[in-house]
Amino acid sequence: ADTDIAPIMVTRREEATGFFQKLVSKGLGWARKYSLFTYPYATACCGMEYMSVAASRHDISRFGAEFPRFSPRQADLLMVVGTINLKQAPILKRVYEQMTEPKWVVAFGVCASSGGFYDNYAVLQGIDRIIPVDVYIPGCPPRPEQVLDGLMLLQEKIGNQVHRLRDTGQPNQTASDHARM
Ligand code: SF4
Repeated sequence: ADTDIAPIMVTRREEATGFFQKLVSKGLGWARKYSLFTYPYATACCGMEYMSVAASRHDISRFGAEFPRFSPRQADLLMVVGTINLKQAPILKRVYEQMTEPKWVVAFGVCASSGGFYDNYAVLQGIDRIIPVDVYIPGCPPRPEQVLDGLMLLQEKIGNQVHRLRDTGQPNQTASDHARM
């Protein structure tokens, strides 16, 4: 039943100006979107589905995102996989802050996206209450095809973002509007 629910991408409006800026931006965007290093912040049952996506049958390496990194300083994609309780929230926020720009965040499953059916005093009702999210993947758990769909949405977003040779250190997510794909 989850397969008919598409991932949701958060977009922002910013455009490169000038011929060379556009050229550099496109080149960097192309390189970055196909060389994602994922920090899998897995806390619960969705973690099993993450392993399934990374295994050979679904083969996330086809999308250039197969290498998990367990140091936030070596990762540019934070994949939040599973339920986040309020005690974990400051730790997740700190992990996000330790990642350098440019960086992106995926909420994997309904628990990470909105708290899911754990509507209670102990569970964070969506990670976007503490960190910006680029793509929400619904499902409990999401099927591997949905995860790959969400990953392709993220790559589309990265390809359309403005990239600079010298990063300003400014966040690349300013979530100005939401587009349901
Ligand atoms: Fe578990 Fe469902 Fe929550 Fe994923 S979305 S962590 S499968 S309860």
